[in-house]
Amino acid sequence: MSQTSFEIQQAAVIGAGTMGRGIVMCLANAGVNVQWVDNNPQMLEQALTTIAQTYAHNVRQGRIDQAEADARMARVSAAADYAAIRNVDLVIEAVYENLELKQKIFRELDGLLKPEALLASNTSALDIDAIAAATRRPAQVLGLHFFSPAHIMKLLEIVRGAQTSPAALEAALALGKRMGKVSVVSGNCHGFIGNRMLHPYVLEARKMLLEGAYPQQVDASLQGFGFAMGPFRMYDVVGIDLEWRARQLAGKGQDAPEVQVDNRLCEMGRFGQKSGNGYYHYEPGSRQAEHDPEVDALVLRVSEELGFQRRDIGPEEILERCLLALINEGAKILQEGIAGSAHDIDLVYLNGYGFPADKGGPMAWADQQGLADIHQRLLALETRQGDQWKPARLIGELAAQGKGFAHA
Ligand code: NAD
Repeated sequence: MSQTSFEIQQAAVIGAGTMGRGIVMCLANAGVNVQWVDNNPQMLEQALTTIAQTYAHNVRQGRIDQAEADARMARVSAAADYAAIRNVDLVIEAVYENLELKQKIFRELDGLLKPEALLASNTSALDIDAIAAATRRPAQVLGLHFFSPAHIMKLLEIVRGAQTSPAALEAALALGKRMGKVSVVSGNCHGFIGNRMLHPYVLEARKMLLEGAYPQQVDASLQGFGFAMGPFRMYDVVGIDLEWRARQLAGKGQDAPEVQVDNRLCEMGRFGQKSGNGYYHYEPGSRQAEHDPEVDALVLRVSEELGFQRRDIGPEEILERCLLALINEGAKILQEGIAGSAHDIDLVYLNGYGFPADKGGPMAWADQQGLADIHQRLLALETRQGDQWKPARLIGELAAQGKGFAHA
């Protein structure tokens, strides 16, 4: 096989936490040698043990044989410092979600790595251009946004910075293919495609708790539509505390009414599945989300304290608000050129966010409804609830031409 300068043979991963572990396995499973760095040696040791256990489990399940498990494990090695990884073709950074920390690491690596090496960040939302600006090789910097658990989830968002070169993107796409991922290229914006759309969707879900709904009702409605998990069950799996800590660190957003239920849950140590309690209760060792009346009482208390007059919110309203929030943001992402096509957005939601496969993704679903209809429904919400529902320009334009997102 002919080799381009970007063909990835040797990689390094920085960070041995939740994401680093999955990413290392993705690379090793695809035949790429990986050197692994974490500034906490205990974390690294633990992570090596965990992936060895995962491979042993895969052998017991009959998914791979012992020789394959050994080969995968043999591709992974701990590296003491950055100097030890100076010859790799690609570094994927998966340390804490903090811009200054990531910039520091990129700056340091830039000084050490060979000039053609690629530098990628697994950030969930941070500005890839700001990270690239810490280096003298912005053409070789990009986002590789894996989803948790990274060795299982199919989706890979490849984030193109303003200066990312076509060759770097191509190398990333080739790597995605080798790892068996569904890769989608996203432009650089806060949250990229998936998490940017998730924001208004979850905001509606949270607002409805204050207005009169309960977590189980919201989840039941969206699961009834076919989502693998409703938003509150999803937060329990991801960890409610992640955003809570991020808000604390950033020193903003903590006072918003919509996050008060989350705040209270976290203050009570209810972080989600991992702590046995979150929006739901979990018996020890179980992942079964059980309704918890204490949470309903908390929701009621918080909304009353905030002065909301609670009302009955039916499953149709829950669906309407959550889905239209998703679609309207998707349309903005498309009109801004953050996503290359409506199909790419659908791939993100089908493979990363549990959107029901039979509905084809949020944009395909909107096309099935008809964009003239979606436009009217958004206008109705705008009249009732305000500016945040203003339809994206693209929806009005396509609706007027009788077209769908698929023709955008
Ligand atoms: P984590 O807290 O589980 O792990 C972070 C690791 O980085 C720790 O092992 C820590 O010791 C290490 N670390 C910190 N500073 C370091 C340094 N200077 N040098 C080397 N190692 C260092 O975090 P995570 O959940 O794996 O998240 C990592 C990144 O992935 C974040 O940017 C996060 O936003 C992103 N991400 C997370 C998820 C998720 O669901 N957890 C999903 C997608 C993306």
